[in-house]
Amino acid sequence: MIPSLLCYFAGSLIGSSSEIPEGSSKNVTLMFIERTSGLGRTNADETHVGWIEVVCGSMFSGKTEELIRRINRALIARQKVEIFKPSIDTRYHIEDVVSHNSASVRSRPVTHARDILEIVGSCDIVAIDEAQFFDAEVVEVCNELANRGKRVIIAGLDMDSEGKPFGPMPALMAVAEYVTKVQAICVVCGELANYSFRKVATPGQVLLGETDSYEARCRRHFLEGRKQQ
Ligand SMILES: [Zn+2]
Repeated sequence: MIPSLLCYFAGSLIGSSSEIPEGSSKNVTLMFIERTSGLGRTNADETHVGWIEVVCGSMFSGKTEELIRRINRALIARQKVEIFKPSIDTRYHIEDVVSHNSASVRSRPVTHARDILEIVGSCDIVAIDEAQFFDAEVVEVCNELANRGKRVIIAGLDMDSEGKPFGPMPALMAVAEYVTKVQAICVVCGELANYSFRKVATPGQVLLGETDSYEARCRRHFLEGRKQQ
């Protein structure tokens, strides 16, 4: 069987037909179904090459939940997983990747992305959360890990609170085999939200440990909110 055929997205329709304007494309939510071949091969003759998955979106979009979902499924398959995050991310527990709904898995904070190459060991899967806080070197590191035969799963904010591409995320999305963009819900109107709106207008890209300072907003309400600041 061809391994690349084993990875696909399972789709399901959401919303009633009355919500879908005639002639528009239907609103489809997709669940990522991982490919299961290629990892943990024992046949030395087979080329052992991994791949990169990126899960990105705004704050409150469920990125970390999606990362944890994939990790949990890998653990059920008895694959060895190592989880990393930048040590700059001090929210919640230092050793855990914790999603907003408090599901958590153990993780290792690292100062530089290249540290991952040193300590990763013989695992099948390398997961990286809050990848937007790493510098550009993380792209090379993820490629190297995938080239070594590992499945690399990356979660991170695709845009900062000014609506600009965040750190290494655009480059990670470019080199990834699979990109999943998840969306939050706009707190103003209930539409799908792509933006992390910072309620307090302060300069700089990141406010750490202050999720209360942000809310998810759609394009329209992100722009309106920014004008009012
Ligand atoms: Zn809105």
